Amino acid sequence: MTPKESAFAALAEGIIKNLEKRGMEGHYFADSASLCSYLKETLPKNAVISWGGSESIKESGVMDLLHTGGYSLIDRASAKSPQEARELFARTVLSDYYFMSANAITMDGELINIDGNGNRVACLVQGPAHVCLIVGRNKVSAGLEDGMLRARNIAAPANTARLNKKTPCQATGRCGDCLSPDCICSHTVITRHSSHPGRIQVYLINEELGY
Ligand code: SF4
Repeated sequence: MTPKESAFAALAEGIIKNLEKRGMEGHYFADSASLCSYLKETLPKNAVISWGGSESIKESGVMDLLHTGGYSLIDRASAKSPQEARELFARTVLSDYYFMSANAITMDGELINIDGNGNRVACLVQGPAHVCLIVGRNKVSAGLEDGMLRARNIAAPANTARLNKKTPCQATGRCGDCLSPDCICSHTVITRHSSHPGRIQVYLINEELGY
């Protein structure tokens, strides 16, 4: 284990304890391959599964696993019209498992997520029976203030570049606190507690994943 990996393994132990106090489950994985093996063993074969936009899901190999595992998938991106997108979202709300990442997680176990459209944070807050977050070690922040700075100045500029949004952060690489039509920071959700124990599961991966 490198010093960086060793430090994160120790940090993850504390984060998992803090998640438990907050009604959420935390699991540590040394790498993405271990997470994929775990999911292969534990996800029920006929589970109805959907996901929110996330580079971590792709980079970890979980997206490939979902598409080859015989699950019943709901892919909102496949919608041919706004009405179909609404209908797929309605089905997503009733899904068994919803995968996403977090824009930041604090050492105390709080989750920070920003969202333009709002469908991702809506499913985090309520709806799907299980919400599974794939979180690389690069997402950990010391506290809420650091996490918010991370979400707005590291995650958002990379996401606006990926999505080719016309926002100040795409031009400068830092948040300009915009209200532009392309803004991806319409909603900010801090999850400090879940009143449905175990519904939210955080998979802490000892790798850099996503933004
Ligand atoms: S400039 Fe706008 S889109 Fe970019 S991070 Fe700031 S509020 Fe979000």
